[in-house]
Amino acid sequence: TVRTRIAPSPTGDPHVGTAYIALFNLCFARQHGGQFVLRIEDTDQVRSTRESEQQIFDALRWLGIEWDEGPDVGGPHGPYRQSERSAIYKKYSDELVSKGHAFPCFCSAERLDQVRAAQQANKETPRYDGHCMHIAPEEAQKRIAAGESHVIRMKVPTEGICTVPDMLRGDVEIPWDRMDMQVLMKADGLPTYFLANVVDDHLMGITHVLRGEEWLPSAPKLIKLYEYFGWEQPVLCYMPLLRNPDKSKLSKRKNPTSVTFYQRMGFLPEAMLNYLGRMGWSMPDEREKFSLAEMVEHFDINRISLGGPIFDIEKLSWLNGQWMRELTVEDFAAKAREWAFNPQYLMQIAPLVQGRVETFSQIAPLAGFFFSGGLALDPALFAHKKLDEAQVRQLMQLILWKLEALRQWNKDNITLCIQNVAEHLGLKLRDAMPLMFVAITGQASSVSVLDAMEILGPDLTRFRLRQALE
Ligand code: ATP
Ligand code: GLU
Repeated sequence: TVRTRIAPSPTGDPHVGTAYIALFNLCFARQHGGQFVLRIEDTDQVRSTRESEQQIFDALRWLGIEWDEGPDVGGPHGPYRQSERSAIYKKYSDELVSKGHAFPCFCSAERLDQVRAAQQANKETPRYDGHCMHIAPEEAQKRIAAGESHVIRMKVPTEGICTVPDMLRGDVEIPWDRMDMQVLMKADGLPTYFLANVVDDHLMGITHVLRGEEWLPSAPKLIKLYEYFGWEQPVLCYMPLLRNPDKSKLSKRKNPTSVTFYQRMGFLPEAMLNYLGRMGWSMPDEREKFSLAEMVEHFDINRISLGGPIFDIEKLSWLNGQWMRELTVEDFAAKAREWAFNPQYLMQIAPLVQGRVETFSQIAPLAGFFFSGGLALDPALFAHKKLDEAQVRQLMQLILWKLEALRQWNKDNITLCIQNVAEHLGLKLRDAMPLMFVAITGQASSVSVLDAMEILGPDLTRFRLRQALE
């Protein structure tokens, strides 16, 4: 039977790209009466968080994407979280070493840097020079037993061509000399993506892998690993990446990329899923509006086109409007209520508002910005006591850039970003705050804007700052 999977890394806000790839994997599995698995690839201990994992579950479920097996629903091939499978990877890594397909590497970061710098100076592709490949196994074992820090690297051919069979492109040829001797196990004993992904896809019985095109250049390494293990390789399909309207890869610097943002903006999940289904794909009869069930019924992977699909909020809004207008008035009201009175969201806002109002009717004028997308801003509100217009713009632009790079979105970190930028310009945090109030709340004063930014989330905050700069 057909088995597909989505394998997100829980390292940030749930990405629309993850939902898009999940949708196509789900459709392919359903169309063939197969199963769809959710696996969490959290081997990057530093960047992975449980909150992000939960957000991925919530975002996919909100969209109506359900999985047959996964960390939260269980299944016969678990655990479905890579951080709980360390012993498995160790065993397979040992197997590769004992068969001579991989080797322990003791090189220090400094040595690797030197090698890379020398290669770059010679205009060569930077790759590992094979320094530790020829250490005798007994010698290597001694050094490991003595506690010397090491990684495990895979051997790769130095010449010839690897043929990657892709469902959409046919055979793609990639020369082996572009491949590095990939690290499979890190010094902390945890696997990298390459080893964990191959081992899990095999053990979880995955038959078809639909993944983003960004992974195509590294496909030869995965193919080689299947060969080393003597395992049958799943059928591969590299999906075109979503793009910004300017055709560059969809990125949070230009567009909101988190599903949470679209939820917050009040898009219907059905419309969002419909739009994702139109990314590089179309119904045989070219109709624009269709449900998940209809997509599954008519799904044909050969109808995926390779031209980069453009994720355009305006087109999505248009489609959402179609869905909205076809709801009964009762459904429209029910869904509007569900959106506006999301208890989890209200509980974050209530503490900020309660002490500042005397009646409920004062909530909307004070905190209506929590329930809006973009704001109609009065440019006069940006007039600043100390700064001229150009300086105001510079300050806001620098804050936006700083916030784009922020990894952990919380009030303290947001405050630090704004403070750093202000100080960098010889100003104080409090000089920047009036501008934040206007950009984020639309008013010169309101509830705590730093709390509001945390609650609104990174994408909506940046969206408003970008609008303020327009
Ligand atoms: P950004 O460029 O905005 O920083 P990113 O590339 O850092 O985004 P990741 O956190 O690396 O985003 O990716 C999260 C998930 O979303 C990954 O599974 C990745 O494959 C997917 N993804 C990221 N960008 C796209 C895209 N343009 N199209 C499809 N999927 C994408
Ligand atoms: N963890 C990888 C990601 O987040 C999985 C890629 C794959 O599907 O193999 O993109």
